[in-house]
Amino acid sequence: MKTRDTSPHTQHLGQAPMYFDYAASTPVDGRVLQAMLPYFTQEFGNASNVLHNYGKNARRAVIRSLELIASSIGATAPDQIIVTPSATSANWLAMVSAGTAGSKPGHIITSPVEHSSVIAAARHLEKIGGAVTWLEVNSNGLVNTDQLKKEIRQDTALVSIGHVNNETGVCQDIESISHLCMDRGVTLHTDATQSFGKTGFRVDNALVSMATFSAHKIYGPIGIGCLYVRNNTATKISVPGDYSATANVPSLVGFATAAELTASMSTSEISRIKYISMEFLRDLHSRVDVQLNGSSTNRTWDILNLSIRNIDGADLARAAKIAISTGSACRTGSREPSPTLHAMGLDIDRCRSAVRVSFGRFTTATDAGAAVDEIQKVVSLLRD
Ligand code: PMP
Repeated sequence: MKTRDTSPHTQHLGQAPMYFDYAASTPVDGRVLQAMLPYFTQEFGNASNVLHNYGKNARRAVIRSLELIASSIGATAPDQIIVTPSATSANWLAMVSAGTAGSKPGHIITSPVEHSSVIAAARHLEKIGGAVTWLEVNSNGLVNTDQLKKEIRQDTALVSIGHVNNETGVCQDIESISHLCMDRGVTLHTDATQSFGKTGFRVDNALVSMATFSAHKIYGPIGIGCLYVRNNTATKISVPGDYSATANVPSLVGFATAAELTASMSTSEISRIKYISMEFLRDLHSRVDVQLNGSSTNRTWDILNLSIRNIDGADLARAAKIAISTGSACRTGSREPSPTLHAMGLDIDRCRSAVRVSFGRFTTATDAGAAVDEIQKVVSLLRD
């Protein structure tokens, strides 16, 4: 079995099969881990208790981390960052706060290709009496912005459109969407979980009112994310009581270190991964009958959603000695066709054959070449 990269930043991971599921979760970067470690053993104080140095140091780390996260994503101040246990809860917070701000549940606009946590929040709002408009999506995975223009109403409380789709890598034109929302005075939330570090996304350039992030997609720890809220956003975020819980200092330090690294590396990382991923696709194309699902131009190249004709995606993912998935991690194991691919109008066979191959910081060109060999081998075996 092939081993993963042994750069100083991943040595702590030891031997493992080749990993092509970065969209599901990324390994913690060694630099992030090193930054976190002292906060488990030496600087373990409660950041709310600043009567002694343990607490004071923890408090300083919290303040510094919030500043770092804010500057890394393009926010102007740390108080625009609401720390959450995950991107899932940040999405919920944004949507449910906006949808329930009025005297009765309001109108929101979203799309069927959003992350399952956005869909769940929208369905919740529908259940409690809110109105949800689900935008149409074309076969490239892009939402219909003309329809968006028409569907914004007087009582629209929120538009929530994710930037990069977690299953396909398709990138929505968030700048146009944000201008449209600004012109109409509507709050725009975007789930930027798969976007930060994989595109040039920054909250200042994208001009969104709210944006969601997660540390474990950017080589930070699992279990921490945030919601960015621009000043003067109409939606008042109602934070449940336990958000005043004792600060998770090691995770916050990890998130901040990961965010800073990601922001500083993103330009070179994006082009390196794009090159590897395009080579992978070209090579795979020359060997098996494969189709790329989703736009080939409006996309990030770290996520490829691929259908190999007459091959069941789940069989391929199980049999191949590389870590890939069918659809999103949240749906792996489900026999239902992916709602995202379904909304794009792909036929059932193409949906069933879909696999997601995702690349990241520690993927090498050699790994990608070996993955093509492995996929070709398994496809031949499955066809026999
Ligand atoms: N949004 C997107 C686009 C994602 O890819 C994910 C993770 N699959 C999430 C939200 C949820 O992230 P978390 O695990 O931090 O809840």
